[in-house]
Amino acid sequence: MLYLKTDEEVGLLKESNILVSRTLAEVAAFIKPGITTLYLDKIAETFIHDNGAIPAFKGYGGFPKTLCTSVNDEVVHGIPSDYTLKEGDIISIDCGVILNGWYGDSAYTFPVGEIAEEVRCLLDYTKASLEEGVNAAVAGNRVGDISYAVQTKAESGGFSVVRELVGHGIGTKLHEPPEVPNYGKKGAGPKMEKGLVICIEPMINMGRRETMQMRDGWTIKTADGKPSAHFEYAVAVNKGKADVLTTFKFIEEVLSKM
Ligand code: MG
Ligand code: MG
Repeated sequence: MLYLKTDEEVGLLKESNILVSRTLAEVAAFIKPGITTLYLDKIAETFIHDNGAIPAFKGYGGFPKTLCTSVNDEVVHGIPSDYTLKEGDIISIDCGVILNGWYGDSAYTFPVGEIAEEVRCLLDYTKASLEEGVNAAVAGNRVGDISYAVQTKAESGGFSVVRELVGHGIGTKLHEPPEVPNYGKKGAGPKMEKGLVICIEPMINMGRRETMQMRDGWTIKTADGKPSAHFEYAVAVNKGKADVLTTFKFIEEVLSKM
């Protein structure tokens, strides 16, 4: 069963997701060669607490940190560590918070200094595939319409879509029904109605789509060792056009000054 949120509940989810957006922007200012992923984690944890919220990932299923930091061929769920970022890396930062009992969850993949043109293209297509997914997240459509839109855009650039991990509903739990795959068929899956709030989060690979899990029990990497990108928005389904509860505006203001 899908839980539909009232306008007031969507407003609360928006507050949580805007805090995630602002946290990612706070972290963005520190992303440069020489910084460790653990340092970025501390920045995020402090900022979330200073804003009256709780890091949602820390302790979730035993995850040890505030952020998921996934570098280069790491797809998602990388654990912040003493790894030092270097010029040409990309880093996906996924962040979750709980504010007033409601969850926020969003991700952005950042370049570290100058990156290769083909890697820039992977980031652009992954973000564009997320936007295509949002355009399909309207009342009366089915979840498969989002999946199809994301997959079509990503594959049009010659990239491949990770199958093992998917988007999800969000509310007073981090993961609620429905699952939101990044691949699929138009017209398939549950019908969406106004008030459904979902996270759309394409994970797109430069090479083959297969992934593997590392022995730390968390980190997912591409099987072929090529880079992977990940962007995530929380969106409230509405009539005509989805209400995107996340914004990349704060992040991109920071990046434009770097
Ligand atoms: Mg998510
Ligand atoms: Mg996330």
